[in-house]
Amino acid sequence: MTLTSPPRLLLVHAHPDDESLWTGGTIARYAATGALVTVVTCTLGEEGEIIPAGLRELAADAADQLGGYRVAELRSACAALGVTDHRFLGGVGRWRDSGMVGVPSNEHPRAFVQGSVDEQTAMLVDVLRQVKPQVVVTYDAFGGYGHPDHIRAHEITTAATAVVPDVDRVFYAVTSRDATEKGAAALAELADLPFRLPEPGELPVTDDAIITTTVDISEHLSAKLRALRAHSTQVSVWQDGAGGAAYALSNGIAQPLVQGEFYVLAKGSGAGAETDLFGGLG
Ligand SMILES: [Zn+2]
Repeated sequence: MTLTSPPRLLLVHAHPDDESLWTGGTIARYAATGALVTVVTCTLGEEGEIIPAGLRELAADAADQLGGYRVAELRSACAALGVTDHRFLGGVGRWRDSGMVGVPSNEHPRAFVQGSVDEQTAMLVDVLRQVKPQVVVTYDAFGGYGHPDHIRAHEITTAATAVVPDVDRVFYAVTSRDATEKGAAALAELADLPFRLPEPGELPVTDDAIITTTVDISEHLSAKLRALRAHSTQVSVWQDGAGGAAYALSNGIAQPLVQGEFYVLAKGSGAGAETDLFGGLG
């Protein structure tokens, strides 16, 4: 990096756990090298499906305490990744997890997708003006896998970065088809994997031809795993003691832990950005 001021990275995520699932290695890598990393989370993830049986009464249709519980999970994950600046958009609990597309929680009056795009964008603009990141990360227009809150996060980040000229680059965090398929094939060789293998095409992936930037996270896999373990209501992590590792969401589908995290440049110059979100920025 050749920046004259400290690199500042800001990531906009929809729910607690997305920062670790999509960008955990990247966060750990830049935090470890002295960058200022800010994570903005838009909701508390109240509608997530709960994996451990002993925590299921927290659910939205029972005690409805999952959101508060996930605040603590997120705090632990941020500590594992080295994030010192975490914020909830609009403050803790301002917007609620909308749930997957077409479910009744989409209509909740505090659902993130029921909120005003203009109000949410203005709040993010305020954060951008305080933090002054050179690089901002969010999801692609499909939200990575179609979740309405992820799509809304994309929309407000696109709108907010359009009016803050100090942001040099905007990236979409994606998953690589090639890395995911190779990783899944390697999982098939492991004995004792407690999750089922993904069917071809079952995991959301992006064609490698449109990926502009690959961040090597091989030195930060243990931090990413610790962060994923912190989200124990949402993520099961498995390690075999011999270097094999995988994780699964509540659907029980094995996902490989791959050596890179992948990005599509959405705004700004890509010169020098092939392996470094800040590469080539002066
Ligand atoms: Zn999410």
